[in-house]
Amino acid sequence: MTSVNRPEGEISELSARMRTFIDTEVVPEESVLAREDDTAHATLARLKARAKELGLWALGHPAELGGGGVPFLDFVYLNEIIGRSEFGMLAVGSVSMQDTLMLYRHGTEEQRARWIPPMVSGDILPSVGLTEPEVAGSDPTLIATQAELDGDTWIINGHKWFTTGAAQAAYCTVFARTEPESVPRHSRISAIIVPTDTPGFEIVRSIPTMGHDPSDHYEVRLTDVRVPAANLLGERGQGFVVAQDRLGPGRISHCMRWLGQAQRAYELMCAREHPVRTRIVARRKG
Ligand SMILES: Cc1cc2nc3c(=O)[nH]c(=O)nc-3n(C[C@H](O)[C@H](O)[C@H](O)COP(=O)(O)OP(=O)(O)OC[C@H]3O[C@@H](n4cnc5c(N)ncnc54)[C@H](O)[C@@H]3O)c2cc1C
Repeated sequence: MTSVNRPEGEISELSARMRTFIDTEVVPEESVLAREDDTAHATLARLKARAKELGLWALGHPAELGGGGVPFLDFVYLNEIIGRSEFGMLAVGSVSMQDTLMLYRHGTEEQRARWIPPMVSGDILPSVGLTEPEVAGSDPTLIATQAELDGDTWIINGHKWFTTGAAQAAYCTVFARTEPESVPRHSRISAIIVPTDTPGFEIVRSIPTMGHDPSDHYEVRLTDVRVPAANLLGERGQGFVVAQDRLGPGRISHCMRWLGQAQRAYELMCAREHPVRTRIVARRKG
């Protein structure tokens, strides 16, 4: 493993400790964690505390925000290990990194103070609402959800789906069309922070995703959702830029986690005792 920003030894040592934690403490609890009942919640809380104790918590979050301050390119490699378990991100607190960075870069002092500390500590979870059922998510300029300013209040109406973690999140960064006529079309959407307990923010259903039913990805409807004008994240019409800042690091982290999952799947396959092969070996021995 090579490292660009950090001496190889240090990141190797972190990787080894992360691997031990994921493989020997998180993986054995997967069947419990998947139940999503009280025992699962207690088990996750125990694992989070353990990750903090081991110095493996929120490693990619900036140090000045209470995170581990591991440089991005090094954290990319750690993601490969975190991804060995689907519960890895929750257990080591990396699940909120993208939203923390987005708020850190674009948020006001008030927004940062309200949301970043509980996110870094793992007390709350964020969510982000870009994708919509009616338009192609590949092109955020097509977003049809609308937000209109009425005095000092945003009124938001729209429809989102694949909003990861929306049902558990404290807030959702909703991307909505605020400048319908603006040219270029990349300057038509804005990002607005919507606490998930705001009236009109409705979880419609969990969307079956990649073999998980229910999954962590939700369909959400926003009906006359009213939030203060101060909940605008970044500048009006700059939602596309804010979204790309969030999505960019995520793409690399997601790919690395999926490599980790693929590696684990391969290891499981190699370790599996195939019944026919087992019979042949037994016959030869006999
Ligand atoms: C596990 C998971 C978690 C997710 N979490 C979130 C989340 O938290 N928040 C969120 O907002 N979204 C989330 N998404 C949604 C994801 O961002 C979108 O699925 C993605 O952006 C693609 O959009 P889409 O599903 O609308 O597909 P589409 O954009 O409709 O694309 C479907 C197919 O058409 C192709 N296509 C699209 N446009 C064109 C074109 N002009 N020309 C040729 N081909 C084209 C695409 O390449 C693709 O193959 C999640 C998705 C998954 C699977």
